[in-house]
Amino acid sequence: MKISSSKSYNLIINDNLIIMRSNKKNHLVTNKFKKYHFDDFTESHYNLLLKTANKNYKFKNFGTKSKDPHIILRHDVDISVHRALALAKIEKKNKIHSTYFFRLRSEFYNIFEKSILSKIHDIIKLGHSVGLHFDLSFYENKSKKNLIKNLNWEKKVLSELLDEEISIFSFHNPDTKHALSISDYRLSEMINVYSKRIRNSYYYISDSNGYWRYSRLFDLLKNNNEKNIQILIHPEWWQKTAMSPRMRVVRCVDERSKHTLDTYDSILKASKRKNIK
Ligand SMILES: [Zn+2]
Repeated sequence: MKISSSKSYNLIINDNLIIMRSNKKNHLVTNKFKKYHFDDFTESHYNLLLKTANKNYKFKNFGTKSKDPHIILRHDVDISVHRALALAKIEKKNKIHSTYFFRLRSEFYNIFEKSILSKIHDIIKLGHSVGLHFDLSFYENKSKKNLIKNLNWEKKVLSELLDEEISIFSFHNPDTKHALSISDYRLSEMINVYSKRIRNSYYYISDSNGYWRYSRLFDLLKNNNEKNIQILIHPEWWQKTAMSPRMRVVRCVDERSKHTLDTYDSILKASKRKNIK
């Protein structure tokens, strides 16, 4: 039996039954567990997916000219750099290369924070590539000229922060902010992963919102019907144990909150100040 808990939730999982206790009410969520394949989104299942993929495909980088069946694996890091590093290690173990796209303007993590920056460098040291995850909705002026100016600026900041060349970007929430109408293969001297050329060349599958909207990735990889695949994995959806998508976010947010408070407590302790509660 695996137990995940925090102040706001308490989840008990065994092989057949999940009971979520919230506000003293018990809700049977077995049906949701099965319907949305909660147990697909674990580290151990991720390892199985990579092993299955390795049997049928080669892993390539964006911009490849390979004619052989291949996969391009990409991660838009929306919520958790900690989870990104956990997946990067599993990929390294399976000799797989992928690209991690980081946000400058995330509400969930700060790439300028020492411990976060160190984890991004760990991902690079494992041999993975990094790109810019660009949030178009942040900018009022949607003209092409302004887009290029803003892409140039974010690229420069990320590149100087990481001391890495940034030659690729992905749009954050592309279907809600008209980003899919921007079909250029390159902008600001970066490959646009939502460009027409890439979208026309690859079967695309994503774990957006923590469930499979069309097919399960395991079935796709096992059946081997698609020649070239672009896989988008958001690291926050992949945890050590199975849980609902929102609870995966709760876990990430709770851990970050705890870390922030620990930092405050340790600063006071180090400076021998009273920590009045
Ligand atoms: Zn995103």
